[in-house]
Amino acid sequence: MKAIYLDYNATTPVDPQVLAAMLPFFTEQFGNPASSGHSFGWQAEQAVQKARAQIATSIGALPHEIFFTSGATESNNWVVRGLLETARQPLHFITSPTEHSSILSAFKWLEGQSNVEVSWAPVNKYGQVSVDDVAKLIRPTTRLMSFMWVNNETGSLNPILQLTKLAKENKIYLHSDATQAVGKIPVHVENSLVDLLSLSGHKIYGPKGVGALFIRSRNPKVQISPLLLGGGQERGLRAGTLNVPGIVGLGEACSIAAAVQQQESMRQAGLRDLLQQNLVESFPGLQINGHPDERSPNTLNVTFKGYVVPAQIAAIAISRGSACNSESMRASPVLQALGLSETDAQNTLRLSLGRSTSKEDILATIGILRQVIQAKNSQA
Ligand SMILES: *Cc1c(COP(=O)(O)O)cnc(C)c1O
Repeated sequence: MKAIYLDYNATTPVDPQVLAAMLPFFTEQFGNPASSGHSFGWQAEQAVQKARAQIATSIGALPHEIFFTSGATESNNWVVRGLLETARQPLHFITSPTEHSSILSAFKWLEGQSNVEVSWAPVNKYGQVSVDDVAKLIRPTTRLMSFMWVNNETGSLNPILQLTKLAKENKIYLHSDATQAVGKIPVHVENSLVDLLSLSGHKIYGPKGVGALFIRSRNPKVQISPLLLGGGQERGLRAGTLNVPGIVGLGEACSIAAAVQQQESMRQAGLRDLLQQNLVESFPGLQINGHPDERSPNTLNVTFKGYVVPAQIAAIAISRGSACNSESMRASPVLQALGLSETDAQNTLRLSLGRSTSKEDILATIGILRQVIQAKNSQA
């Protein structure tokens, strides 16, 4: 029997409409958009332009503010390293311990650089930062604050609108890793006034290995240096032949995400709440690790306190912490920041729903979890 997939925060399948849009760009329309002297190149360039516009429209940006990358990991690394190089030092950067590993690792690297200082904003038990706490960390040398919009493990939302306001008042760039926000909640760069924003194709029913970085071009114009040097692609800011099929897929995926977000979010939140309610009733003492309301509609992260969760649950594809940390048995940094012990972390599951999740999937999942998770005192 095929396992029920409830790990959409780790990755999503490519939407058939996205795949159909991509396919011609592997074969007949294989041109390099940088080949400006013939029709193969023009066709490819046109497709890239269309995708850039689709992505820009979906988040309220201008097309020239969208830069293609290999994914959110690259976008996040680019922000940290690209801002470091453009500014006078000493420099100060702010983030929090519940960020994705691509931000955490980049900030840990920053900590090792001379003339750079890093502050880690505290988080509450849901993993959210508070504007008041962040305000206390600001210094005259602060260059950037980076806070994810939606947490990939808990689904908790950060107060991005208030944080951007604080950043503006202090003339600091605000970057948000919106990889888990796009398609799940409304994401708009003008309403929110973020300066930099990362997104990824494979979390929104697009292909793996492609993403984008939004870089604000006005009010203020963000000064950032390139991460990759080479040909003059992406107006000199990101070298490398463009991944045309991937970019076309990302454009299509963003368009679809914007079109179905509201309806899908309501549908998935309904199913997620059904799952949560049933688990709360079935497992007394169950702890929910995301914010009760300020949470992504598709995510449920729960600790089965007083129970033993088996190491493998073959019938359901789920995650303990984030996929990137699942090889190690240590509590994920996010769960550690929430104050979970290693034992609690081992008995913690992240269930993340998606467009193909049905009510039958949820009912079956409840049944399976009831069957496989045993109360501690009933163990032999
Ligand atoms: C998946 C994810 C990333 C990494 O994206 P890739 O495109 O796989 O590099 C970054 N941030 C968050 C919040 C994610 O969920």
